[in-house]
Amino acid sequence: MTSPKPQTTPLGARLRALIEAGGPMSVFDFMGLCLADPEHGYYMQAEPFGAEGDFITAPEVSQFFGELVGAWLVQAHAALGSPQHFHLVELGPGRGTLMADMLRVAALRPAFREATTLHLIETSRRLRAIQRITLGEAAARAHWHDRIADLPKDAPLLVVANEFFDALPIRQYVRTAEGWRERAVGLDATGTLRFVAGTGSLDPGSLPADLAGAAEGAILETQPLANALMEELAGRIARQGGALLAIDYGYARTATGETLQALRAHRHVEVLAEPGRADLTAHVNFEALARAARTGGLRPRALMTQGDFLLRLGLLERAGQVGAGRSPQEQERIRGEVERLAAPQEMGELFKVLAVAPHEAALPLFDGV
Ligand code: SAH
Repeated sequence: MTSPKPQTTPLGARLRALIEAGGPMSVFDFMGLCLADPEHGYYMQAEPFGAEGDFITAPEVSQFFGELVGAWLVQAHAALGSPQHFHLVELGPGRGTLMADMLRVAALRPAFREATTLHLIETSRRLRAIQRITLGEAAARAHWHDRIADLPKDAPLLVVANEFFDALPIRQYVRTAEGWRERAVGLDATGTLRFVAGTGSLDPGSLPADLAGAAEGAILETQPLANALMEELAGRIARQGGALLAIDYGYARTATGETLQALRAHRHVEVLAEPGRADLTAHVNFEALARAARTGGLRPRALMTQGDFLLRLGLLERAGQVGAGRSPQEQERIRGEVERLAAPQEMGELFKVLAVAPHEAALPLFDGV
């Protein structure tokens, strides 16, 4: 076994000092600091996206993604009765590519465009500056917020979140002889960060019956922050009207298994090895996210795979249109993008789309309209 590299990052040194002073910290706190520490957090200082970065998201793979999500939004706006004023909200917009691509499609529908106020929920000042550039003229009518609570309360909300919920800290629990114990990050004898079984425990009553008998060593992940944000947004949409579309990689049913991962330069690295320098994410538990939406007062629609969602919105037709008359190389590039977004062995199946809205709304695709 190779031993993990010593933590040489500035955040690693701070984490060590914190643990020395206060004892092991939960995986939740560790992940929160790695991603969002104001000085050294990953999203505050790293360049996550694109070929030069650590990972590529669907809107960065292809403009088709944002264009088709934009087309869905235009249809959803009509299905909600074409409200004359509504707020288009994106959670965690990254480089702003998805928003820019959605707006290009939406611009073709004046009824949609003129009814829209733009809101971007983004904690990273660095990424806000990039989003402003990507949005160009549209930036003049966009509002940036740190928190969902700051969204206006006067009109329906159409909310889009791509690879947002996976970027929020999770809790991990380990099954031990004494029951479920919260997993924490402590130090070994050499001062290196190590996973340890912490003192927190999990209420077994909160578990699905088939997990109560999980084997020793099993790991269970929970996503209290993702669920809380979903519940808050759902409560707003229940009162104000609207809908929410969450696209992310994840699983449809609560299950044991570790999905917390660290990515650096498109490679998996050890979770504890480079605090603040590697991206940390966890797969989204869509069952829990849907439950949170229900608690907030909305009806979650049946989960769809990203492949199904995009193909049913006309991915192949759109690609054909764009490719017509282009060079063989261009057509090959377009074919590659379609594959990447929708093929089952690429993003097509692991990525899922959850739509939530008030019970009576008739959402395009999800409610058979
Ligand atoms: N949606 C983009 C980027 C996904 S990366 C895309 O598909 O390319 C996650 C994004 O969420 C980043 O913009 C990050 O800065 C932002 N983010 C992470 N945690 C956040 C939080 N708690 N509140 C607001 N934004 C957050």
